[in-house]
Amino acid sequence: MTYHPDLLARPVPRYTSYPTAAEFTDHVGAEDQPRALGRVRGDEPLSLYLHVPFCEKICFYCGCNTGAANRSARLERYVAALHAEIELVAARLGGRGRVIRVAFGGGSPNALSPEQLEGLHSHILDALGGDHAAWSIEIDPRSLDEAFLDAVARIGFERASLGVQTFDPAIQEAIGRIQPLESIAAATQGLRKAGITSLNFDLMYGLPRQDAANFGATLDVAVDMRPDRLAVFGYAHVPQIIPRQRKIDDSALPGTEARFAMAQQAQRRLVDAGYATVGFDHFALPEDPLGRAAAAGRVRRNFQGYTDDPCNVSIGLGASAISRLPGLLVQNDKNGGRYGLKVGNGLFAAERGVLLTPLERIRGHAIEKLLCNGACDIRPLHDRQRIKAAVQPFVERGLASCKDGIIGIDPDKGWPYARAIAALFDPWRQDSKGRFSNAV
Ligand code: SF4
Repeated sequence: MTYHPDLLARPVPRYTSYPTAAEFTDHVGAEDQPRALGRVRGDEPLSLYLHVPFCEKICFYCGCNTGAANRSARLERYVAALHAEIELVAARLGGRGRVIRVAFGGGSPNALSPEQLEGLHSHILDALGGDHAAWSIEIDPRSLDEAFLDAVARIGFERASLGVQTFDPAIQEAIGRIQPLESIAAATQGLRKAGITSLNFDLMYGLPRQDAANFGATLDVAVDMRPDRLAVFGYAHVPQIIPRQRKIDDSALPGTEARFAMAQQAQRRLVDAGYATVGFDHFALPEDPLGRAAAAGRVRRNFQGYTDDPCNVSIGLGASAISRLPGLLVQNDKNGGRYGLKVGNGLFAAERGVLLTPLERIRGHAIEKLLCNGACDIRPLHDRQRIKAAVQPFVERGLASCKDGIIGIDPDKGWPYARAIAALFDPWRQDSKGRFSNAV
């Protein structure tokens, strides 16, 4: 695929929502949250997300809201707050909604003890339902032990995601995440034995000291371990926003052209190994639920990236968790202490968000379709003429098409430019600078 630096020059969002979290304001928050929960229909399929903002060790590159899990009293207080929030949400829903997905993310949910994990599982079942839901969990292989794996098996999690990033020891050192190959292999085997049928590996390109050779070696090892899915993310180096990234040596980072080449390298290697491409950065075996959803045109995009989760309503629990509710996107207080105080006092913890007008929903739907299916209809958008004009440089280079009001991403050449094309739809982005990551 050809590298066109001028078309990738602008930092753009990942569009896990539209409007993006950068558009959230503190004019929208805790008062809107219960109102929007009140609009959930009785039979509405619901997706739950529980955020666990603790990790054994903090990786230098991490942009998540997480801290070191070194004080058990703090973790205990946080878990008590999660229980309080489950009660609050359940009371507001009053039995409405059908929980069909439950995801534990972070941070590292395996910073919880097995008892804490099982306590949350039982409480969710009792208060909100979800006994027929698909349960998933993010895992840090560095701190996964037998007792936690037993809890994963007892609960019946089907899906898990391992933070792998790279198998290269020198790069692991440069990013502050040392995890020998043996620990990832043991975690993989342990999770399979615990009943995980859909296992994802997160990999990263654009890391310090990374080049085609050592990235290729990481891809080979990953393919040999045969996860059901892979997400291959470009490292977003924004130390002005994420201070812990200052520990990463800027001078060792590959340039944009090398990043572009690594993204293509991953695509070729994984497709050769039998994975289907899902959007611009996910891959799945054809028999995995995500692979099947991709083949059927059912892939969605939510706060966790590409997904086969069909829910339009997603309830985020925990500090910094984002909810998508009828007419509202809203984020809980990012500060764990303040979050705990609010929900402990029976208050909703949202601190910022954005109301979803019908026009924003139409635009969000177009962006989601473009990024998931590679095409969307811009005729319902009032600024379609502006979008048509803006997409022309991509059309002229064979990366996109624009015909009869349908914008399409070229399936062979266009995907590396997908986020840049999506940003043309986004009126908030027409003058943005520096708040997002590279488009590749
Ligand atoms: S384990 Fe994951 S969430 Fe925790 S610091 Fe590392 S990258 Fe961030």
